Amino acid sequence: MQTIAEFDRIGEENAFAVLARAAELARSGMDVINLGIGQPDFATPDNIVEAAVKALRDGAHGYTPATGILPLREAVSADLSNRYGAAVSPENVLIVPGGKVTMFAAILMFGEPGAEILYPDPGFPIYRSMIEFTGAKPVPVPIREENGFAFSAEELLSLITPATRLVIVNSPANPTGGVTPKAEVDALIRGLAEHPHVAVMSDEIYDRILYDGEDHVSLLSYPDIRDRLILLNGWSKTYAMTGWRLGYSVWPNALYDKARKLAVNAWSCVNATAQYAALEALTGPQDAVGEMVAAFDARRKLTVDLLNTLPGVSCIVPKGAFYAFPNISGTGWKAKALASDLLEKTGVATIGGPDFGILGEGYLRLSYAASQDDIRRAVDRMGSFLS
Ligand code: PLP
Repeated sequence: MQTIAEFDRIGEENAFAVLARAAELARSGMDVINLGIGQPDFATPDNIVEAAVKALRDGAHGYTPATGILPLREAVSADLSNRYGAAVSPENVLIVPGGKVTMFAAILMFGEPGAEILYPDPGFPIYRSMIEFTGAKPVPVPIREENGFAFSAEELLSLITPATRLVIVNSPANPTGGVTPKAEVDALIRGLAEHPHVAVMSDEIYDRILYDGEDHVSLLSYPDIRDRLILLNGWSKTYAMTGWRLGYSVWPNALYDKARKLAVNAWSCVNATAQYAALEALTGPQDAVGEMVAAFDARRKLTVDLLNTLPGVSCIVPKGAFYAFPNISGTGWKAKALASDLLEKTGVATIGGPDFGILGEGYLRLSYAASQDDIRRAVDRMGSFLS
């Protein structure tokens, strides 16, 4: 049971602080280029917006089941089985208000003093924040540049102890854009067979944002771990719907009802109109997704090429998501100081690697979900600042 003092252990997602500061500087007249926050710069596709408008007009104004409307849960099941060949019953799908909510629920379920939870470092900052909140011990799994920012199954497995309750994996990854290859995921699943006491939360929110013909490897396609797998996904990134607050999770039978009860207690249900929009997103035309990914791809190449011209900076080519994670150790700067000075002095918002974990030192995260013109101007300003 949490006390008020334990709320002091909750951390932050610094991208939101940078977003606020960037807006403040812009209001004061500075020309700010925001490569900080991780969200598509596209509007939500029209067909999805229209479906929400129609739902509002048609009277979708009341509560829905806490688990989400049945047609939407069915659409999620169908989508997952089409894309991953995985049988997922709508009875295991929970519609939640955003991707974050699934990590909140899963970590709350498994975290307690004495428990250990493995999470990627550098990784999405809320994993560690929530683990610490529950009193569990956060155990970082190093995500290394020399490994293409994929996780190493061997290293991850070596960190499991009898106290480990939950392992969090994320591919394609924030903040690195790393994608873990299938062979590595296979090795993880093989190794987990020896640790039946460990549950897995797979954050696959960037599963449709992949490049160079890469196929997503979903942990759903491994039947051996389905009875202890929690899948996190949602609409925010794929359909440019970050502000709609829409996510879903797939829970094993033994955990589903616990998650449902948390929903009833905390948020009752997800905004009804948003659920109809989500239904259209999954069942309507998918062209917009392909177009957005093609645009991100062109920006990815541009960002990496330009970053590699900067003094003291080197950047490997990310394989997924919309982040570049350049190594800035050759500049002599500490990452957070550089990110802060870049924003205050040049108006370029980025996030310092340490905001994603101790191993993020020496790196910056740039979200290239911005126009090519903005990317050029931003890296140009970085270049002038660094030289
Ligand atoms: N998981 C990862 C890896 C993310 O990068 C994000 C958002 O940046 C989320 C989850 C949360 O997504 P949402 O905005 O839908 O809560």
